[in-house]
Amino acid sequence: MVGSSYVERGSPATVIFYDHELNRAYLVDPGQGEDRPRRLKRSLEQLGNPEYHVVLTHYHSDHLEAIAKLTPVEVVATDLDSPAVRRPDIRAALTYGMYLDPNDKLMMFRAPQIAVTKEVPASSESSYGRLRLIPLPGHTEGHMGVLTPDGVLHAGDAIFGDRTIAKYGIPYHRRLCTARESLESLARLAPSLEYVVPGHGPVVRGSEASALIELNIKRLDEVANLIESSLREPIGIDQLVASLVKAFSPQELEPANLLLLRTTVEGYISCLRSREAVEPVIVNGSLLWRLRP
Ligand SMILES: [Zn+2]
Repeated sequence: MVGSSYVERGSPATVIFYDHELNRAYLVDPGQGEDRPRRLKRSLEQLGNPEYHVVLTHYHSDHLEAIAKLTPVEVVATDLDSPAVRRPDIRAALTYGMYLDPNDKLMMFRAPQIAVTKEVPASSESSYGRLRLIPLPGHTEGHMGVLTPDGVLHAGDAIFGDRTIAKYGIPYHRRLCTARESLESLARLAPSLEYVVPGHGPVVRGSEASALIELNIKRLDEVANLIESSLREPIGIDQLVASLVKAFSPQELEPANLLLLRTTVEGYISCLRSREAVEPVIVNGSLLWRLRP
């Protein structure tokens, strides 16, 4: 791609950085799918079969499933996301908002427990080898971007491609307000980058990333505005989910999508709670929420 940085295409994409001096490769988000471990091994073969380390942007199963068939020297994740990488039950509970058996077919992706061998701080920038690890929280609590010395940023799911946004309608973020701040950080960073690699979506040049970043911010604002206007009257989480589905007509609407959407809505309620902007009301045994007067 550029210098010693390569992209293994797919959804999610993997960024590979090869450090010649150490004869060591880094796989950022090995991803998922039957064929992925084989494709990654082939890429490593082309680099002369160096030792390789895995770095994870976040704990979602589709970003880490392939690790089960690989033998990395280390697996790196942030301290906040690491428990959910290690434990599929915690991963399911955080992702879907409820406990699910790790093999439950309800989940779109399932990955086994993955041993994290090194934790890095989620709250501040750090480095791992020659990689820069940049906090981009919101999609998950400890989500980070991983930047190679060639200026290639694996942005994980802090940003989605336009087709992914069209397909799902409402981007999944555990905490929407934090995800928006991360998109603003990304907007400041992007002009100095060669490439931005979204987990799901086309690779964009850093100098041309602003349109996609704007598209993501715009959709988050539309979602936030709709939730806030609905909260003028007391409303429950599931009614909020239904109004978002109506407004943004996702192409994919399985029970799992609705659970994910519920988590996103609850995450925005949590943002509003932090601003002391919303309060709970109990009506006929249901917990509703409304904007504070
Ligand atoms: Zn994700």
